Amino acid sequence: MSRYVVLLGPPGAGKGTQAEAISDKLHLPHISSGDIFRENLKNKTELGLLADTYISKGELVPDDVTIAMIRDRLARLDCKDGALLDGFPRTPTQAEALATMLSDFGGQVFKVPYICVPEDVLIERLAGRWTCRAAGHIFHEKYNPSKKPGVCDFDGSELYQREDDKTETVKRRIRVYLEQTQPLIDYYTQRNLLVEVDGKKPIEQVTKDLLSALQGNGKS
Ligand code: ADP
Ligand code: ADP
Repeated sequence: MSRYVVLLGPPGAGKGTQAEAISDKLHLPHISSGDIFRENLKNKTELGLLADTYISKGELVPDDVTIAMIRDRLARLDCKDGALLDGFPRTPTQAEALATMLSDFGGQVFKVPYICVPEDVLIERLAGRWTCRAAGHIFHEKYNPSKKPGVCDFDGSELYQREDDKTETVKRRIRVYLEQTQPLIDYYTQRNLLVEVDGKKPIEQVTKDLLSALQGNGKS
C-alpha cells in the first residue's frame, strides 16, 4: 500500500516547515507545489512565467495547469510508494483530480493532517519568513532564525523574503484560502481522512504531534 499524505492549512501554517522535518522520517518525498512553481520561475520556463502572473497577485494558478504539473511530478519513480504533498490540493477540483490520479497509480490519500493556526498569527509568520534561494529551506527571523542572518544553515545560499509574503498580498492569499481551500476540510472530514493538529505550538511540538497523528498505520 502506498502512502500519500496531504498537508492542509492556510498560508503560514507551517506546512513547508513540517514537511522538511518529517519527510525523511516518513521516507516520503516532499512535493511542494509552490516550490515547483518558484523553481520554474527561476529557470524562466513557460510554466514559471505563467504561474507568476497569479502568484504575484496572491491568486491561485489555474487548476488545469497545476493538476498537470503535479500529475507529472507524482508519476516519477520516487513517488511510487507515496509522497508528502504540501500546497496541493488547494481546490475541490484539485482534490478530485488527486484522487483520480492516485487511483491510476494504484494508490490513494492516506491521511490529511490539517495544521490549524489563527489568522493574526499567519500574518506575523509570513512577514518574518525567510526562504533559501537554492532549495526553499524555510526560516523565521524570530521563531526559527538561521545561525547567520541572511544565510541558509543547510546549503549556505542566500535567504530572501518572498514578494508574495508582503502583508497586502498575504491578506489576499488568506481570503483566497478561505474561499477556495477551506472547503477541503469538509471534503476530507467526510472521507474520514482529516486529523487536526494545533499549529500554534512551537515547531518541534507540532512535528511530534504530526508524527503521532500519522504513526502506526499505513506501513505495509
Ligand atoms: P506554509 O508552508 O504553511 O506557508 P511555512 O512552513 O513556510 O508555512 O511557515 C511560515 C513561517 O512561519 C516560516 O517563517 C516558519 O519558519 C514559521 N513557522 C512555521 N511553523 C511555526 C511554528 N509552529 N511556530 C512559529 N513559527 C513557525
Ligand atoms: P504557502 O507556503 O505560503 O502556503 P505556497 O508556496 O504553497 O505558499 O504557494 C505560493 C503560491 O503558489 C500560491 O499563493 C499560489 O499562487 C501558487 N500555488 C501553489 N500551490 C498551488 C495550487 N495547488 N493551486 C494553485 N496555485 C498554487
